[in-house]
Amino acid sequence: MRPFAYERVSTAAAAVEAAAAARAASVLQSPAHYLAGGTTLIDLMKLDVMRPETVVDINALEHGAMGRVEADGNGLRLGALVRMADAAEHPAVLRNYPVISQSLKLAASQQLRNMASLGGNVLQRTRCPYFRDVSYAACNKRNPGSGCAAMDGFNRMHAVLGTSDRCIATYPGDFAQALIALDAAVEIAGRSGSRTVPFATLHRQPGDAPAGSRRCRGGRGRRRRRSPARPSPKRARKPRPRPRSPARTATTTTHSRSRSASAR
Ligand SMILES: Cc1cc2nc3c(=O)[nH]c(=O)nc-3n(C[C@H](O)[C@H](O)[C@H](O)COP(=O)(O)OP(=O)(O)OC[C@H]3O[C@@H](n4cnc5c(N)ncnc54)[C@H](O)[C@@H]3O)c2cc1C
Ligand code: SF4
Repeated sequence: MRPFAYERVSTAAAAVEAAAAARAASVLQSPAHYLAGGTTLIDLMKLDVMRPETVVDINALEHGAMGRVEADGNGLRLGALVRMADAAEHPAVLRNYPVISQSLKLAASQQLRNMASLGGNVLQRTRCPYFRDVSYAACNKRNPGSGCAAMDGFNRMHAVLGTSDRCIATYPGDFAQALIALDAAVEIAGRSGSRTVPFATLHRQPGDAPAGSRRCRGGRGRRRRRSPARPSPKRARKPRPRPRSPARTATTTTHSRSRSASAR
């Protein structure tokens, strides 16, 4: 693992400033990353896929609004630092948004869900094996302009929709699919304040630049996502296509870079 600076913050504004300062001082495209549960970030740092110069630990923010689930007549607000396991078992989520609960419970393992945050979940990286293995030089997402090893490699679990001739990776998350189905919005904190955008616009298709596939980059932190108040979509159920073992990540859900999903 490469050396990196570690910074712990206790407010969203401080997090945004820390990431922005790291960006200003670096020539890298993504020199700073926020640390939530670390189940993607630390994993990929150990594999040398992600190489942040600065890691901004935002876990202290879970003691505020970003760590809460709030339900009222206006809908459901999910803090970005709520753990997947906690959101899945929240009474309001179980009662009125079963598709959210199911999408979370189907993901990963209980141990991972206890640790992993909602914000980290929607911003997780693709599980494309060529992306995760730096011994493969060709990966446009990891190393822009290098090619795509998956095109002529083992790609049975890769995407067939929303691809480009630069990248055919799938988006691996389950929760984001539920948010798309519910027309959720996401609030993004930045240096000039917060803005709310439709969740469906958060991520981009790979196009010519698969490395930069999301709108939320260093210097901005995701705060929470909101599902509108509506008659309970209790009948909404999330089928999970197989084959796949319980601790494997989704590969047959909506493609990562279509506008109706999220990836990075
Ligand atoms: C073995 C395994 C199986 C898995 N299976 C599944 C599966 O079946 N379905 C599924 O959906 N997922 C699966 N995952 C992925 C898992 O759900 C994610 O790793 C986890 O949700 C990430 O959350 P985290 O809090 O640990 O994020 P981190 O690792 O801390 O962060 C992930 C990324 O998001 C960024 N980030 C985190 N929080 C914020 C924020 N508030 N604002 C801005 N950026 C932020 C970080 O900078 C980082 O780049 C699996 C993971 C593993 C290791
Ligand atoms: S599919 Fe995308 S992530 Fe996988 S090797 Fe090709 S460019 Fe990299």
